Amino acid sequence: MSVPRVRRLERAVADQIAAGEVVERPASIVKELLENSLDAGASQIEVRIEGAGVDLVWVRDNGHGIAPEDLPLALERHATSKIASAMDLLDVGTLGFRGEALASVASVARVRLSSALHDAKTGHQVEIHGGTEVANTPCAHNPGTTVEVRDLFYNTPARRKFLKTERTELARIEQVVRRLSLAHVDVGFELQHGSGAQRQVRLQLPQGQIDDRLAQVLSPAFVEQSIAIDQQRDDPEFGLYRLHGWVGLPSHNRRQTDQQYFFVNGRAISDKVVGHAVRQAYRDVMFHGRHAVFALFLDLPEEGVDVNVHPTKHEVRFRETRQVHDFIFGALHRALRDIRPGDVAHAVPELPTDNPPAAGFALETPSVRQSSMRFAAASPAAASGSPSPGLLAAFAEQQPAWAEVAEPAAEIPPLGYAIGQLHGVYVLAQNAEGLIIVDMHAAHERITYEKLKAQAQDRSIPRQTLLVPLALDVATADAELVEAMSAELAQVGIVIDRSGPQAITVREIPALIAPRQAEGLVQDLLSDLASFGTSEELKRREFDLLASMACHGSVRANRKLSLLEMNALLREMENTENGGLCNHGRPTYFSYDMQALDKLFYRGQ
Ligand code: ADP
Ligand code: MG
Repeated sequence: MSVPRVRRLERAVADQIAAGEVVERPASIVKELLENSLDAGASQIEVRIEGAGVDLVWVRDNGHGIAPEDLPLALERHATSKIASAMDLLDVGTLGFRGEALASVASVARVRLSSALHDAKTGHQVEIHGGTEVANTPCAHNPGTTVEVRDLFYNTPARRKFLKTERTELARIEQVVRRLSLAHVDVGFELQHGSGAQRQVRLQLPQGQIDDRLAQVLSPAFVEQSIAIDQQRDDPEFGLYRLHGWVGLPSHNRRQTDQQYFFVNGRAISDKVVGHAVRQAYRDVMFHGRHAVFALFLDLPEEGVDVNVHPTKHEVRFRETRQVHDFIFGALHRALRDIRPGDVAHAVPELPTDNPPAAGFALETPSVRQSSMRFAAASPAAASGSPSPGLLAAFAEQQPAWAEVAEPAAEIPPLGYAIGQLHGVYVLAQNAEGLIIVDMHAAHERITYEKLKAQAQDRSIPRQTLLVPLALDVATADAELVEAMSAELAQVGIVIDRSGPQAITVREIPALIAPRQAEGLVQDLLSDLASFGTSEELKRREFDLLASMACHGSVRANRKLSLLEMNALLREMENTENGGLCNHGRPTYFSYDMQALDKLFYRGQ
């Protein structure tokens, strides 16, 4: 039998293999070229694409350019101007540093690199096809650099087959430009696709303000429905950590994770630790199965993060994983928790004016979009809002709310005073700005939940003994679960025991929950227990359990409330963490200011 011999690969083959790691698809080329332009200090970058990047990727910038004698070198593997020694790897200040991108691209496509320095009279260009130089000549070129990449994978047809449809590849390219543009607001970007008459501007992102960039890259609604955060921690051991950026309100969520942008020291990354910390922070306020929207920047000392983990640099490795996780979680959790009525005006912004609604139906016609003003989460805004005793007394006498119109606006709490109840479902109230509509059940549920959580944290959920213990026939499996988890259940305020092979008896329930809700509560509890499976899991997901308890402990629709009760509800909402949201992240109230209402009735037009 002949033994296979070891041979050195031809350089071109070795290069193509290595290129596979960096140049996976057209979008990875766009990313590498944009990063080079940014590293070169460009303030304007133009990208042209044909055939979704397979036919052409063309990037021009106005950065510092490349000296003519360096042009061929820039296309060689492991040739870089960005680091000189292994020590430099510990503190990489540029997006690139491996000196691989251009060489990799040049080994799988036809590349032309043209550049002019800012003080040069003329430009120079080199052309390389499949790794072989075919031209090196002077040319006319504005200060800056242009890279043209044609016929991607022309010499590796197998790779070409793996590309997805044109639409998918184009979407990925757009995503790359969007992502990088968020971290470089002071740089203008333009992306065009197609040639000749088919040419189309896909993205136009002029240099400018972060608000404009956020609106263009995420959505105008995000700008309205997000909060700015900026928190830092200076640890003597780990150095300065800072998390800043914008997070969408929990009600502004998406089915996909496609609008989650996270940057570590200016690099766009996707990371499990980060993802987990963010999910945890939103867990409590986000509708199940939905995903948060955010653009967040984490800055930490360079020696705390290793960016040289993967050729595409999408991944990083944190030295202090736990520290990073807890910092992100803590910062977001605080920001989300501090959302209070009054900080965020849940107004319905745009009532349709172009298409006049039929009189009498106007209030039903506008699609109720939730909106809010952006505010700095750090602001300790008017969350106290305790009602003045005089006003409360007025309500005790059941005076109509408009009696208060003469009161100075400053005295009216953010959610105002109740006017009445609508179909047993909504509480209507009047505040300084206009009308507030509260989803009674959602609001009460949030209040109960926050109370239960606070009590659980102190291990002191007050219980009440049922006058008549509630006996229930259940499946054997359920009875076993109850038996196995009775200690943990008692901790959350439910005393329940197994009274037979297929029977359980409920003896005590949390004081916050009405006895007549006990049976519904326990039925839901059983399905929760089944999904937890073990008491460890129950402990881990205690908040979920409290959430379903809160749902049972809250006022149901059709329960008549007095004005006094309604006002008490409004005041509690103002003082509750996450008061603007119900447990599922749905809003608990909307507000229409007078202007919005006037618009509806064409007043003053
Ligand atoms: P890296 O970015 O890791 O250094 P690349 O292969 O991407 O490696 O680029 C090689 C070198 O070419 C860079 O270090 C830089 O000196 C030069 N270069 C590439 N693109 C540009 C550009 N747009 N403007 C100025 N210099 C560039
Ligand atoms: Mg590079």
